[in-house]
Amino acid sequence: MSVYFSRRFSALKPYVPGEQPQDRQYLKLNTNENPYPPTESAAAWAREHLRPCNLYSDPDNLSLRAALAAQLKLDPDEVIVANGSDEVLNWAFMAFCDERTPANFADLTYGFYPVFADVNRVPWAEIPLREDYTLCPEDYCGLEGTVFIANPNAPTGMALKPADIERVLQANSGHVVVVDEAYVDFGAESCVPLIREYDNLLVTQTFSKSRSMAGARLGIGIANPELIRDLKTVQFSTNPYNIDSVTMAAGTACVENDEYNMENCRRIIETREWARQKFEELGFEVTPSRTNFLFARHPEISGEDLYLKLKEQGVLIRHFSVERIRDYNRITIGTREDMETVIEKISRILKA
Ligand code: PMP
Repeated sequence: MSVYFSRRFSALKPYVPGEQPQDRQYLKLNTNENPYPPTESAAAWAREHLRPCNLYSDPDNLSLRAALAAQLKLDPDEVIVANGSDEVLNWAFMAFCDERTPANFADLTYGFYPVFADVNRVPWAEIPLREDYTLCPEDYCGLEGTVFIANPNAPTGMALKPADIERVLQANSGHVVVVDEAYVDFGAESCVPLIREYDNLLVTQTFSKSRSMAGARLGIGIANPELIRDLKTVQFSTNPYNIDSVTMAAGTACVENDEYNMENCRRIIETREWARQKFEELGFEVTPSRTNFLFARHPEISGEDLYLKLKEQGVLIRHFSVERIRDYNRITIGTREDMETVIEKISRILKA
């Protein structure tokens, strides 16, 4: 740390993203990317927009917001777009939390939440998931603060029904409830239809998972126009041109061709269920996933050991050193062939 680094941040523990190694070619099943490429027209639209790059992009991101609004049957002023859903989440910590409005989230959830809280100097509290890793909605009722719920949750993969989220919304009517739906397209139910009923609901979604655009960095916030205006105030106070024109064009093409994305999601769900059965046949305990990953542990090998042995063999999966889940690994669902490869390698490791 340099002598110039602000004391505000000197104790900050930054978020540690999943490994993105550049040293060799791995079978990457560690950061929940989509194994299929984005829709072809995304690249074509992006190429077209490389030319007018001498001009600034539209800070209102209107073409993309309009395409998303049409798809969601909402108005564009109920939608905001950002540089990954991480950016929307950071805005939500900035806009809806402060010293007197702490952030509340599960003890096992997206690891960026405590970092967003710390960087924005917001107090935060962790609410333990139940023993079986399910989230108890009653634990989130009547909290004096902003609530963040990843639904489906990561890394457990499990989802709540919108009716359970509604209980949380009703019991926290004076505070914003953020529902992070990064993985919703892999078999969970979205809370988007609730935004007109609850003025304290903000839903976040992403292009990184179901839409095959993790590298393009595009995220979505969906809420009533007042909450969206608050987020916009933060956007225009930090980075008005938050999305470049090339990415915006690619994202708009991606939304226009959503049937392609949904077909890929169907394939991933089918592969997930096939892989789950194979993992269980090998003796793994697997949580019920509504995402593009499995969360699994085996009684005969530690999570870390399995992660390291697979890495040696060119396969990356995600291991977390957090005590409660140290026996587990999170394994992204790739293509059927990817999953055949990893299952074959795991079965040989278990036999050795
Ligand atoms: N929420 C959850 C639960 C996630 O796992 C991730 C991806 N790591 C994100 C949000 C952020 O995704 P992105 O910024 O790529 O949209």
